[in-house]
Amino acid sequence: MEFDHILIRYGEMALKGKNIKQFINQLQQNVQQKIKEFPGVKVKRTQGRMFVLLNGNDPKAVMEKCKNVFGTQSLSLAVKVENDVEKIKEAALYALNNGENIHKFKVTVKRINKDFPVRSQEMNQVLGGHLLTNTDGITVDVHHPDVEVKVEIRNEATYITSSVVPGLGGLPVGTSGKSLLLLSGGIDSPVAGFLSMKRGVEIEAIHFHSPPYTSERSKQKVLDLAKQLTKYGKSIKVHIVPFTKLQQEIFREMPDAYAMTIMRRMMFRISEKVCEQESILSLTTGENLGQVASQTMESMHTINEVTNYPIIRPLVTMDKQEVIELSHEIGTYETSILPYEDCCTIFVPKSPKTKPKRDKVNYYESTHDFTASIQEAVNGIETIKITDKKDPTETFHDLL
Ligand code: ATP
Ligand code: MG
Repeated sequence: MEFDHILIRYGEMALKGKNIKQFINQLQQNVQQKIKEFPGVKVKRTQGRMFVLLNGNDPKAVMEKCKNVFGTQSLSLAVKVENDVEKIKEAALYALNNGENIHKFKVTVKRINKDFPVRSQEMNQVLGGHLLTNTDGITVDVHHPDVEVKVEIRNEATYITSSVVPGLGGLPVGTSGKSLLLLSGGIDSPVAGFLSMKRGVEIEAIHFHSPPYTSERSKQKVLDLAKQLTKYGKSIKVHIVPFTKLQQEIFREMPDAYAMTIMRRMMFRISEKVCEQESILSLTTGENLGQVASQTMESMHTINEVTNYPIIRPLVTMDKQEVIELSHEIGTYETSILPYEDCCTIFVPKSPKTKPKRDKVNYYESTHDFTASIQEAVNGIETIKITDKKDPTETFHDLL
């Protein structure tokens, strides 16, 4: 006997009223997409349940993929057997034996098929007895079990599950539109991307790159981070903006203390143009409050002036430590701390204004025409499509 199904429970989506159909369809599609490398696996829905049919594939390997899909609340490996008491006993024992570190258990039988001859209460006792006589050192505890063996006798078959694995929660990616993630290569922005995705948002990424001041490896680092994010969603298009010339111009033409603020405003201006091209309706950043000069309330107010797109800032209320913990959990930390230089760490003014005012910045910007350089940066964008496949990244243009 072997687990042949994964049962997927989706929580929050049940609350979504009219949209529930779209959410469930998207979840099914996203799970199917994540496990398509396994031959013959299928995601099915019956009577408000979602199941993966394993079709002989390694249950743990498929589970590993499924639990990283947003919208899953919890998952369980399941065995499907005929509605036959002996078969159900055997399967319940198998499910119990496959749990780890189990000392206390509980059996819960749900008899949906009223034609099944043994009633739930009686079936509970039959199975409990069977499990006790066929295991060593395991006892029944209905209040605090290590594992609950759940038996659902349905019309078509009986499903038996034991351990419950937590899913990622959130909403299925693709149900909340798209956002353009400003991805820097630091610790924060990949976490911000992950959190936007958690709300069902599909992301594309934009990265400002300043060769030769920033190396090829710093660009690869950003692509690697994007790759790590695809684990939780779809392919990600990364737009690499050649930023050197515009950055040099800013630092040459603008007062040193305001260069940082103006550079950030340029990033938003260029990002907005990419949004227009790609029909994206919002930006996502890893900005926080109070960490550095560019992240004061005044600074945010002044930088924000150049766009009226909604800006999702998932980290704005978080402590640095919380962000670091999350980056460990999602697997981006080790890449983020690689030492390759970022464009913002190279062009750093000696004493940036921590409280830049809109009118001052507008005045300085009016003294020089950046239009041509902005357009040149936009025209020079290289777009790379990152997929969750194992093979090396393919460039978007190569695919066309
Ligand atoms: P991170 O850890 O994400 O680099 P940070 O704490 O270093 O963030 P800042 O340098 O102030 O903070 O950057 C704030 C946000 O601006 C980043 O989280 C990111 O969204 C965006 N950003 C900064 N530099 C770049 C870049 N080179 N390309 C794209 N986005 C960037
Ligand atoms: Mg940074």
